[in-house]
Amino acid sequence: MSSLTDRLTNDGGLTIFLFHGVIERQEHQVRNYTRKHLPVVEFEAILAGVGRVGKAMSMDDVLGTCLSGEQFPRGAFAVTFDDGFENNLTVARPVLDRLGIPATVYVTSGFVDENGMSWVDRIEYAIEKTRHGVLRLPWSQRASHFANPAEKIAILNDIRRNVKSTPGLDVDGFVSDVFRQLDLEEVRSSDDQLDRKMTWDQVRSWRTGGCLVGGHSHTHAILSFLSGPRLEQEIDISLRMLKERTGIVASHYSYPEGLAHCYSEEVIRALKARGIACCPTAIDGTNRPGADPFHLHRVMVS
Ligand SMILES: [Zn+2]
Repeated sequence: MSSLTDRLTNDGGLTIFLFHGVIERQEHQVRNYTRKHLPVVEFEAILAGVGRVGKAMSMDDVLGTCLSGEQFPRGAFAVTFDDGFENNLTVARPVLDRLGIPATVYVTSGFVDENGMSWVDRIEYAIEKTRHGVLRLPWSQRASHFANPAEKIAILNDIRRNVKSTPGLDVDGFVSDVFRQLDLEEVRSSDDQLDRKMTWDQVRSWRTGGCLVGGHSHTHAILSFLSGPRLEQEIDISLRMLKERTGIVASHYSYPEGLAHCYSEEVIRALKARGIACCPTAIDGTNRPGADPFHLHRVMVS
């Protein structure tokens, strides 16, 4: 990996790093091929590197500086995690504490409440577990056969691409159909290091020493695909659960998937009406002084 210190700015801008998970070591052949969970030695090397030349900020400080319009300190950066994996607390947090770097976790309330897996993690699980598989996918005329890791990764990439670009697809129904076709018992929850989510008590315990907790929807639905009461419900449940289970009244949030087509002015209005003050995207890039806290760019690391 090229050095992420190259992504720091020295002209009054800000870099926000986006992580999902950090693991002790890679134990799977297929799962985590996208490196959504980074080995801890790499995570520590990255943070030690940026910490040496840059200035870590909490997302509260980021928000305050955005609103003031002032320049960020030289090499300013913030660390964020999406989704709420337990390994954020058990593997990443000791490194962050050692280096004195605060981080914000944005938790998906349904994942935390049920130790739930995202649709894509469930599909990865099913395909890795199957020795020789055949799948008929709704967007393809031909059956897809897979047996070795390369074929499994190719089909996973195909599924990712197609599902994410199809608004209105019944994703849960699609996942159930994949399990049925592969003759596997459906899995919604797992304690594997790639799946285990924080408990609500762990979420509460995250919030010390400048580390913050924000929302990230209830079901990880792409918010711009929803509107009206369904959009409001998705946000309301996530904020209410966070408050009821941990006492945290969130002013921070992040958009599921976070690309330009995944949020909208209606989404931003709904978040603002519920007290959210800052919501970074997953659009790649750094940020200028006075950046809009609802359009912040991030650099995805894992
Ligand atoms: Zn997410």
